[in-house]
Amino acid sequence: MSELHFPRVAVIGAGTMGNGIAQVFAAGGAQVLLVDTNAEALAGGQATIEKNLGRMVSKERITQEDAEASLGRLQSATELTAISDQTLVVEAIVEREDVKTAVFAELDSITVPEAILASNTSSISITKIASATKRPEQVIGMHFMNPVPLMKLVEVIRGQATSDDVTRRVMESSAALGKTPVEVNDSPGFVSNRILMPMINEAVFCLMEGVADCEGIDTVMKLGMAHPMGPLTLADLIGLDVCLDIMNVLHEGFGDSKYRPCPLLETMVADGHLGRKTGKGFYDYA
Ligand code: NAD
Repeated sequence: MSELHFPRVAVIGAGTMGNGIAQVFAAGGAQVLLVDTNAEALAGGQATIEKNLGRMVSKERITQEDAEASLGRLQSATELTAISDQTLVVEAIVEREDVKTAVFAELDSITVPEAILASNTSSISITKIASATKRPEQVIGMHFMNPVPLMKLVEVIRGQATSDDVTRRVMESSAALGKTPVEVNDSPGFVSNRILMPMINEAVFCLMEGVADCEGIDTVMKLGMAHPMGPLTLADLIGLDVCLDIMNVLHEGFGDSKYRPCPLLETMVADGHLGRKTGKGFYDYA
């Protein structure tokens, strides 16, 4: 069944993922409050939504009226305290457990008691995030894929305490947004990044060890394994900082050296080469 159970939604973080999540909820008919503590990032996120909706109009996938209606349902704020009666909050901020738990503790104190608190985390334990709140049964993972408006999957992650009813409403609402939700249990990296991220990390090792150059590695995986894009191109799209954060969660979570982040990935992040969002990663986007 598909039904959008949440007429008013807040999205925290207007970066790569947050602006896409805000866009799909607004297009799905929800009133959306997009919150980012960085005013520049917030303006950037809004500009991206306008550009993406404009592109969909020019490709005749939606009408100009649809685009305007979506934009009309979007509001923005730089303070979490702007959240009032929203019954679903989707967090999409930096992939760090300490930062997320601090935000969830604050969300727990400012949102209405019935609000469901969802995280778009790529890898961090939903059970741990939920433990920062007094409503762990209403905390869930809602893991959208990048780019959000195009990608069909939502990985819905149940923490240890997440209730059946909360899971059902999030699954049905994901379907109402035109997505295919898949329910998974809480484990480092869940299913998606437990499989994807070690592959990307291994591609970086191949590059570092001179097994092949970027184009060579990506071409092998595209033409040889029928991947729509190569792992290094995908890493640039995801953000190398996000990739490194996820590898660290896998490494610490499983305590297994097979998940150690590639030193080249660490160096590139330390140098500020984060992929598309900074104009340089494995490829140049200038
Ligand atoms: P990003 O760096 O592009 O954006 C994060 C945004 O959060 C920034 O604009 C920042 O200003 C804002 N922010 C940071 N702290 C905040 C706070 N306390 N309150 C409000 N705003 C705050 O990151 P992203 O790539 O969009 O990733 C966000 C989350 O989504 C992470 O958990 C990541 O693992 C997950 N994710 C990322 C991808 C991807 O491909 N990038 C895919 C799926 C899931």
